[in-house]
Amino acid sequence: MRPKWRLCETDLDGYFEIAPKTSNKYQVSVPIMTGCDKFCTYCIVPYARGREKSRPLNGIVAECKKLVKAGAKEITLLGQTVNSYSTFVKLLCEIDKLHSKGLNRLRFMSAHPKDFSDDLIKTLSRLKTICPYIHLPVQSGSNSCLRRMNRPYTREKYIEIIKKIRKAIPNCAISTDIIVGFCGETEKEFKDSCALYEELHFDMAYLSQYSTRKGTFAAKKLKDDVPKKIKAERWHYLNQVLKKHSLACNKKYIGQTVEVLIEKQTAKELIGRSREYKEVHIREFDKKKKWIGEIIKVKVENVREWELYGDKL
Ligand code: SF4
Repeated sequence: MRPKWRLCETDLDGYFEIAPKTSNKYQVSVPIMTGCDKFCTYCIVPYARGREKSRPLNGIVAECKKLVKAGAKEITLLGQTVNSYSTFVKLLCEIDKLHSKGLNRLRFMSAHPKDFSDDLIKTLSRLKTICPYIHLPVQSGSNSCLRRMNRPYTREKYIEIIKKIRKAIPNCAISTDIIVGFCGETEKEFKDSCALYEELHFDMAYLSQYSTRKGTFAAKKLKDDVPKKIKAERWHYLNQVLKKHSLACNKKYIGQTVEVLIEKQTAKELIGRSREYKEVHIREFDKKKKWIGEIIKVKVENVREWELYGDKL
């Protein structure tokens, strides 16, 4: 059973260091927990940051209220395994109430499959501010590799979670993280990752080639035995699969209208993200006006692997 953390803000010295700098007042990040109890064999976080610590709910909600009052339209909750927060569902429900005060979008990063409960999925599907985009790291599509990584779920369990998310939140964009060339990864295990990718046709993935991190279990006990050349070949192969699926996912938006929160304005274009976390470029706009922080509707005309292009409606 999860320990009930009752910490005051001062217990979390250095905690806010994990918050990335935000570029504007409209999109802000709020750290809600730090540390990790999962002990993946390749990861240094549990040793470097310590065990999971959840920040008190009242303090987070108060901070979110202040940010929304100051103009925040999008809040991203942050944590190493953000959904392991002691009362995550309750926290989302509390922050969602800020919709009436001007909060338009609520996101969270990064989730862990182990704590992605049915209750959480049900809650995500009914809250007004939750964006239809989930980043859920799988790391490998092979059960034997997941065991060596000490990831506490199976390929089958992960597939089941994604299917439940897609059923509850239609058109939800989903991305993942995958490590190729982990200690002892066989050709068959790598193929299992590729097959999982093909089966779940992710919108996006962050691929990495395994490299040893000093101080981890893997560094001490497992052999980094996949040659660099093979790691690079596997990465390039999977990257091609990724690009194919990313383009196919984006093509579904052609002709559709998406809601874009503008993050950047140049002389030539406006750039922002849709609720599905797609980068959207808009070429036709009133160049005299300041657009950053505006939420506009855009009809998608064209797409590439990483972006959508369209006109303001
Ligand atoms: S990879 Fe993520 S879940 Fe695993 S130990 Fe590191 S922070 Fe925790």
